Amino acid sequence: MLTVEHVTKQFQETLALNDVSFSMENGIYGLLGPNGSGKTTLMRVLTGVLAPDGGRVRYDGIDIRSLDGQYRDLLGYLPQQFAMYEDFTGEKFLRYVCDLKGIPRADARERIAESLPIVGMAGEEKKKIRKLSGGMRRRIGIAQALLNHPKILVLDEPTSGLDPSERIRLRNYLLNLSKNRIILLSTHIVADLESTAHHLLLLKKGVLTAHGAPAELLQKLSGQVFTLFCKDEELMQIQQQYVVSAISSEEGGNRVRILADNPPPGARQTPPSLEDLYLYYYGETQDA
Ligand code: ADP
Ligand code: MG
Repeated sequence: MLTVEHVTKQFQETLALNDVSFSMENGIYGLLGPNGSGKTTLMRVLTGVLAPDGGRVRYDGIDIRSLDGQYRDLLGYLPQQFAMYEDFTGEKFLRYVCDLKGIPRADARERIAESLPIVGMAGEEKKKIRKLSGGMRRRIGIAQALLNHPKILVLDEPTSGLDPSERIRLRNYLLNLSKNRIILLSTHIVADLESTAHHLLLLKKGVLTAHGAPAELLQKLSGQVFTLFCKDEELMQIQQQYVVSAISSEEGGNRVRILADNPPPGARQTPPSLEDLYLYYYGETQDA
């Protein structure tokens, strides 16, 4: 079990993490929040890359600072910004990471061979990194995080640059892996977590504003999400009056999905979705 206790981190005038506490057991944890909300900072603290100003992270009760190398052996980490040697092939890069992680040469070949198909890169490993697309680089980045069979897998925006089918493949693979390890992944794309994350962590301006199982969090919104039909000329007014989570055009007008305490007449209650939840906590702006 991994516990984060009262973690605080300040950069000059920015309070990037403000008294964050939660714990994780095996399963997939989705860290959600707009850009600048503190996701990367939290992951850097969790992986021991960055020391917090206050608070601590414990693994099975022991402060990770005193575990040091032992803790690193348990970790697989995909940073958000990830430098790669452009002249290396994917395979050579992965072999290099195996060396860094102290994986014996005899095992490295096998570890690399099993990681490549997971990220859909089997057969592409002889290509130079320089020649790879953004999505392919990201997939090699994910592969390197898997090489040491980590008990704790931390992926900072793993889906950035991936196309929809690559996202689905990653999602399914992570589900399989999560049975006996902790997986923490960050995203600002709600759909990445739909039907995957066992737990959600919602960061807003460095504060953990909500966390729990998706169904639990959605419960808070029940009775507040509605759909209604409106004509084109009414749409503007609806958008000004309510928080609108979706609009689709229909014969003669629009179907609008809104969050409201007092819905207009004719609105029909509907079960909340993660998109609604995101809007509820973060509003319609993309600011942290
Ligand atoms: P996210 O990953 O959610 O986009 P970050 O953790 O990268 O958020 O950033 C949280 C806040 O901390 C932002 O306001 C960012 O500008 C600031 N920040 C992050 N890292 C640094 C740093 N090394 N120096 C100064 N400010 C930083
Ligand atoms: Mg980030």
